[in-house]
Amino acid sequence: MPWRAEIGQEPNPYYVLVSEFMLQQTTVQTVIPYFERFIQKFPTLESLANASLDDVYALWQGLGYYSRAKNLHKACQQICEFGYFPKDIEKLKTLAGVGPYTSASISAIAFDNPTMPVDGNVMRVLSRLFTLPEPKGPKLHDLVQNCVSMFAAKKDNTHSAQALMELGALVCKPKNPLCNECPLSVECQAFKTNTIDLYPKLLAKAIKPKRIATAYVIINPLDQLLIEKRPDKGLFSNMFIFPTTCFEFDPISLPDLVIQKQYEKPIKHVFSHFDLQLTVIMASTKKITDGIWVSPHELSKYGMPTLMHKVVKVWEDFYKESTKNFH
Ligand code: SF4
Repeated sequence: MPWRAEIGQEPNPYYVLVSEFMLQQTTVQTVIPYFERFIQKFPTLESLANASLDDVYALWQGLGYYSRAKNLHKACQQICEFGYFPKDIEKLKTLAGVGPYTSASISAIAFDNPTMPVDGNVMRVLSRLFTLPEPKGPKLHDLVQNCVSMFAAKKDNTHSAQALMELGALVCKPKNPLCNECPLSVECQAFKTNTIDLYPKLLAKAIKPKRIATAYVIINPLDQLLIEKRPDKGLFSNMFIFPTTCFEFDPISLPDLVIQKQYEKPIKHVFSHFDLQLTVIMASTKKITDGIWVSPHELSKYGMPTLMHKVVKVWEDFYKESTKNFH
């Protein structure tokens, strides 16, 4: 993996920091190309700390959970203010977005400290290895943390920690684990008893609320589209979105809107705390209001959440269709 040090090389704490933020809630395979683009644009911690948040968001587009990008940017600025990269867990926890897991990870991987980070992958491996009866949650986390802390090596712990994390990410996968290639298969209780699918045990899922909203793709006589920047706090903070009803936009603020098309099939999007059904409306206006009007080919310069990329796709299909009909 591009953020890992070769055997015999010192790990780069900045690479470890970036990768740990990107890997929160995202798979290794998805993160690799984002990490490579990111390091190409921001090769050092200082270059990221000095970048604008808009530039950071633009490169983070598609990775989701944008608060991670904001926190990573802020953490780099904090490290620059310290004048050194903190090595111990307590100091690492003072960085934006760095909790017990990320601090333990950075401490072990970047600085070879004898700590063992426990994420969902590690929990899955240990749960299967010992057929632990605890369901996924804080109790299982504490149980696993106690188990793996005993494995933390005083020397070369960086490789022990990474080996366990990567075994979980790449071999002991949630579905179809590669047990025949697993070095733990001889001891693994779930493998021996053919009960892998039962571990880790699951808690009953809570039902998420559903929300309905409408996004407006509004074009002006200069062929520009209206977008707006979200406030500093809340969902999609500091990102750019099309005017959307559940995000404080009132279409009456544009009285001469001419509706061109309303899509009957709404976009479905899953957030961590609700499910959204988003209807897309194509509209035009003769009035160029205050706001950010951009040419469609410039949209990629603005950091937009994945949901808005789905809206762009709908708009592109509409545009292609209307151009075809025109010719
Ligand atoms: S043997 Fe299979 S289930 Fe057990 S730890 Fe290895 S990959 Fe996971």
